[in-house]
Amino acid sequence: MSTSSWLALLIWVITAGAIVTLDGWVTLGNLALMLVLGSTLASYWMTASASVLASAVAVALFNWFLVTPRYTFHVQLDQDLLLLATLLGTSTLISMLTSRLRRHAQDQSEHARQAERLQQLGSRLQHASSVIEQVQAAHDLLHEWTGMPVTLWLGHAAPEPIHSLYRAWQASQQEQGAVGPGTGRHADLNALVVPLRAGVMRIGTFALGPTDNGEVWNRWPIERVQALARLIADEVHRLQSSLQAREAQDRLQAQQLRNTLLAAISHDYRTPLATITGAASSLQVNNNDAGVQTALRTILEETEHLHRMTSNTLQMARLDTLEAPLHFSWESVEELCGVVLASTRRRHPERQIEAIVPTDLPLLHCDPVLVVQLLDNLIENALRYSPSHQIVGLHVRLEDGCVQFDVLDRGIGIPDAWRDKVFDPFRRVLPEMRGDTSFADSARRGMGLGLALCRAIANAHHARLWIEAREGGGTVICLRFTSQEQPTAPVEEIE
Ligand code: ATP
Ligand code: MG
Repeated sequence: MSTSSWLALLIWVITAGAIVTLDGWVTLGNLALMLVLGSTLASYWMTASASVLASAVAVALFNWFLVTPRYTFHVQLDQDLLLLATLLGTSTLISMLTSRLRRHAQDQSEHARQAERLQQLGSRLQHASSVIEQVQAAHDLLHEWTGMPVTLWLGHAAPEPIHSLYRAWQASQQEQGAVGPGTGRHADLNALVVPLRAGVMRIGTFALGPTDNGEVWNRWPIERVQALARLIADEVHRLQSSLQAREAQDRLQAQQLRNTLLAAISHDYRTPLATITGAASSLQVNNNDAGVQTALRTILEETEHLHRMTSNTLQMARLDTLEAPLHFSWESVEELCGVVLASTRRRHPERQIEAIVPTDLPLLHCDPVLVVQLLDNLIENALRYSPSHQIVGLHVRLEDGCVQFDVLDRGIGIPDAWRDKVFDPFRRVLPEMRGDTSFADSARRGMGLGLALCRAIANAHHARLWIEAREGGGTVICLRFTSQEQPTAPVEEIE
């Protein structure tokens, strides 16, 4: 029995004792009033139905013991019936009113306590600097208030199948709502599982229990738990969003800093490189000394290499940024190949390059600077990783409406296992890895960025870039653009 039931019983016993003691000393009317007083006081600690029942029993006993003729339920119709009827009516009414008043007062104090809890939980969650801290704070407070085990799963986190709450958690996922005692769904569970929703988004799941004491659910009905769960979800979501926004802001700042640095490097490196190349080239023309010529050739080669590394790095970093500006235009494939071949032949006058470029190819919608850089890197690789007496090919064709570039060489080839990996930045198949030393010198110079940049450029154009082994030895690197609807030339009106 609960404390309040004991209190009510005590009041009834005292009342009965007092009535029995005073019987004979005071009138029946006074005894009846004492009964009303006792019933009023006791009903404060009882439920409405129990106190109405107790009042009725008390009036019956009053009748049995005190109303003449005693020890019968008979009443003198003219005198005592009215008294008993008034007694029964008054005590029943007062009992009902008192217990309603008590319930109201209890509700009020429970509301105040819930408001205080919400306020305390909200302020603890607001002051947490990380989601982990928030989860910990929510866990501690709820455990303190309910005395039950508290579990929170955020995002896609889930309990292990052997976890005692696994079945309850799974039921809540399937139902898309709260499950457990008082929810009308899976009421046989010994835990209450509530989804954590911020707006319409489910950001996790919250569980109270398991517990074997079914009584606690009277103190923790679903509405009360749901209000707390809603607050937790809102606060966790608010912090998650603000952390994400701050991260995005930091990223943007870092990107801006990087862009500024890149702009500075691109200007500061390229300008002196161009000056060195210009000066060395003019010395080459004006000097006949063989030793000086050799030195100048080395200077030009190294400068060229440095220039290439700088522009690959810059372009790679530029494409890596989210809003890299691409300058698309309609370009003739022949012209693009012409630019690539001219610069390659200037750099490698000793090498033989075979170009097969049909004249009737469709125009390409692309960023010409990037596509030239891509082809230039492919041809540079083909030259670098094949013996100098071998021909390197640049073949273009139309296949299924798509323009496809093939860069072919008769070099050392790329092992099968490396055909994807070489597209990763800074991945290189070093000559010693393949036990081949014939091209060691030229193959050693490189950063492993060329093909990574080629792939980034191809992706930016929605084009496909892949490696095939060439029949008879060597490598073919293929670049295939998607088929594009050609621009229609404006029709001039004839007047
Ligand atoms: P760089 O940054 O100067 O271009 P790199 O040429 O080493 O340096 P990538 O162009 O990315 O870098 O090439 C990656 C690796 O793939 C090379 O180190 C080379 O081992 C291999 N590779 C690329 N093209 C060929 C080819 N045509 N034949 C054989 N191996 C190749
Ligand atoms: Mg390369």
